[in-house]
Amino acid sequence: MSRTGDNELIKNLNYKIILDTIRTAGSISRIELSRITGLSRSTCSGICDKMLKQGLIHETGKSSSSGGRRPTLLEIQNRAGVVLGMKLMDGVIDGAVVDLGGTVLEHQVKKIPRHLDPGSYMTQISGFFDAVKASHDMKYPSVPILGIGVGISGRIDSKRGILIESSVLEWKDLHLKEMLEVQLQLPIFLENDVNSLAFGERYFGNGRDYENFLCLTIGDGIGLGIIYDGDLLSGNHNSAGEIGHMKVSMDPDAPECACGRKGCLEAYAADRAVLARYEQATGITCTIQELVNRAHARDAHAVDAFSTAGAYLGLALSTIVNLFDPQAVIIGGERVDAAAYFQGTMKTVFTENTVYNLDQEVEVIVMEPSNDLWVRGVAALAIREFFSRSESWEAL
Ligand SMILES: [Zn+2]
Repeated sequence: MSRTGDNELIKNLNYKIILDTIRTAGSISRIELSRITGLSRSTCSGICDKMLKQGLIHETGKSSSSGGRRPTLLEIQNRAGVVLGMKLMDGVIDGAVVDLGGTVLEHQVKKIPRHLDPGSYMTQISGFFDAVKASHDMKYPSVPILGIGVGISGRIDSKRGILIESSVLEWKDLHLKEMLEVQLQLPIFLENDVNSLAFGERYFGNGRDYENFLCLTIGDGIGLGIIYDGDLLSGNHNSAGEIGHMKVSMDPDAPECACGRKGCLEAYAADRAVLARYEQATGITCTIQELVNRAHARDAHAVDAFSTAGAYLGLALSTIVNLFDPQAVIIGGERVDAAAYFQGTMKTVFTENTVYNLDQEVEVIVMEPSNDLWVRGVAALAIREFFSRSESWEAL
């Protein structure tokens, strides 16, 4: 590489480091910035001046520290741009416009026909995007949409933007990033949905203070997002974290899983299993939302169905803690709305099966139920992508 290329690379790297430090700190003085990054004060000041001109950061009130002249603080201008986070599911597109600070400005959900082929799905996405963009442009005409994060259940090669396979959407080997970029004319960032959620927690949520944590998601499926050394661990074949298909029973009569095997964790603790257990006890068929409501109404069989699932979740929890020894485990996914009914058994089994009393050391956090979790996570990945590309801020 040429000397000019080297200089360019270092400039970009410094820019990225400074931006990330300001973002993580919330607000920070130039002196602090220089101390934390190890970059000279003049380098810091030069880059900050450029960011101020670009409108990417702004100066805010003085810090209240030690006497003498109080330094001005710098903050990210959260509305310098927004990204769209989209979760693509079978029958539903869920999307939110999120600013650079993680605040959801707009959230839309669109029901679409099920079992669509990729081409027909693209048409639906296009319509969805137009509606979201029109609404956003009306409310925030001067705030550009910088890019789009897309989360999908399945095996995703996020570096190359390829969907390898998704059993939920029944698609295989698609250059989805490229297809979407052609369709929507914006940079696209693709990731597995559970990984997105974990990364969103790292960027904006409960995982901000942790470099090493796990995100266990519970709902229609059971997934695991792994944050290791501050970043996502996807595995060598983009398949890390498939905890839903960890065997919890070798019994030949064990319940069958959606994957076709028997005895998987999902066959004991995902929504379908909880519903089946309730039906077996009462003869009543209902939806998962109805079952949660029945538990809220103190239906003992409903509570019991969730609490049995909790024991299996506790087993999974102890296994992942024994494997990874993380700082924390964050429990997320749709079914946190029933956490009150599975937490007790989950904690008991977790404590019984965790080595070295790690259960005392590892923090277990249950996320608050929210519709924004998934889409905010995907948006976080798109925001990081935006912050890490030298060309994106030049365009501001
Ligand atoms: Zn399975």
